[in-house]
Amino acid sequence: MSEKIPLAGVIGSPVAHSKSPLLHRHWLERYGIRGYYVPMDVAQVDLKSVLAALPRMGFVGVNVTIPHKETILGLADLVSDRAALIGAANTLIFRADGKVHADNTDGIGFIENLRQGAPGWDPAAGPAAVLGAGGAARAVIAALSEQGVREIRVSNRTRSRAEALRAEFGPKIVVHDWVQAGGMIEGAATVVNTTSLGMVGKSEFRVPLDALRPGMVVSDLVYTPLETAFLAEARARGCIAVDGLGMLLHQAAPGFERWFGRRPEVDHAARAVLLAG
Ligand code: NAP
Repeated sequence: MSEKIPLAGVIGSPVAHSKSPLLHRHWLERYGIRGYYVPMDVAQVDLKSVLAALPRMGFVGVNVTIPHKETILGLADLVSDRAALIGAANTLIFRADGKVHADNTDGIGFIENLRQGAPGWDPAAGPAAVLGAGGAARAVIAALSEQGVREIRVSNRTRSRAEALRAEFGPKIVVHDWVQAGGMIEGAATVVNTTSLGMVGKSEFRVPLDALRPGMVVSDLVYTPLETAFLAEARARGCIAVDGLGMLLHQAAPGFERWFGRRPEVDHAARAVLLAG
């Protein structure tokens, strides 16, 4: 009797830095699932042929990372609404009928992390202030909008990228100039850094934070270091600070569930695996 062992992985280039294999292997082992999750360095030129071959090799799906997250949309047979809205996919499901389904779970990961780190978070509590307008910002804004946040203030160094978000997401997006980024925090209920500022090896985070008030929910997508200067100051000012590692964990859970048939837990043990890796 032949038993099919499900295979999954992550495709990107470079891919060696990805923490996804550590996490998925932890979950596979923890739940006693016979399956494998492997990193695969795939060049842009090979993407199409690799995508055609993987399902035939026993793969049930893959995560997609830099630089293929946008290109992959054009190669998938089905694209979820949220992946289309965000303009990128991070999770592929190889369906039994041969079709490749592209999804984006970054937004879900962001919201689940926020709800876990700030259980009383209420989308209707007031405006959200989002720093940055790159790929991660798109996922965050789409998710905040879907949750019912009525006003989303956006500030980005390159203003035109923030304006483009307004054109796509509509009038609930209010663009603030980058030099006034600190000012848009005034009266916000949720504040999110989606820029790479404050990340190890990147520029320092220097946005003025005087407008932060106790009780505001503040999240940083940067998770190296785990406690960024932005989060440390937010915490010192009495805000509820939510680090970015949980987003990485939560965005991985839906893919694992679809491929291996079990919803994995995002808890201390899973966090510890990423922190140690
Ligand atoms: P991206 O598309 O390259 O966007 C980078 C953003 O950072 C842009 O808004 C960019 O502004 C801004 N930025 C970069 N350097 C800056 C500087 N010196 N001054 C002001 N703004 C600057 O990258 P991304 O994919 O959105 O990722 C952004 C960050 O989120 C990264 O640190 C990434 O690791 C993190 N992230 C975390 C998770 C998670 O699971 N926690 C998920 C996704 C991303 P311009 O438009 O002006 O260049």
